[in-house]
Amino acid sequence: MKRKLPRPGVILFEALRNAFKKKKSTIIYPFEAGIKPETGLRGAHTLILERCTGCRACERACPPLAIEMVPSDQTKTGKRPVINLGECIFCGLCEEACRYDALWLTDHYELSAFDPKEMIIYQKESPLDKKADGVKSEEEKS
Ligand code: SF4
Ligand code: SF4
Repeated sequence: MKRKLPRPGVILFEALRNAFKKKKSTIIYPFEAGIKPETGLRGAHTLILERCTGCRACERACPPLAIEMVPSDQTKTGKRPVINLGECIFCGLCEEACRYDALWLTDHYELSAFDPKEMIIYQKESPLDKKADGVKSEEEKS
């Protein structure tokens, strides 16, 4: 079905109304805070190692191969995932694949970094920690 376009008068009225509106529609990000992510936004992951079994389901589900399994003495299989956000496409398939609720995407979206190594999610120490602070640099990993 063809969408009906609004009449020119309506468009003009809307444009004038927006032009004289007192409230700003934009903010000077990142100098002004206040962006609230949309519900369902897929940002940085949280990984709870205590729940992870090292089953590799997340690694197999990842289309761009952004998840690498590395040795760990904290999981049953002796492996745990490391997520490279620099390669991640935020599809959420790893979250769907994890049967143990050990891994999920949060609404944390401020992920820019100068060093690609800072884009690696290593682990999350406690479920009560602030969201997405599992993002750690290589130095912190060792
Ligand atoms: S959200 Fe990222 S890490 Fe997870 S499956 Fe998709 S691309 Fe891979
Ligand atoms: S995060 Fe989930 S899917 Fe990935 S290895 Fe751990 S338990 Fe398996």
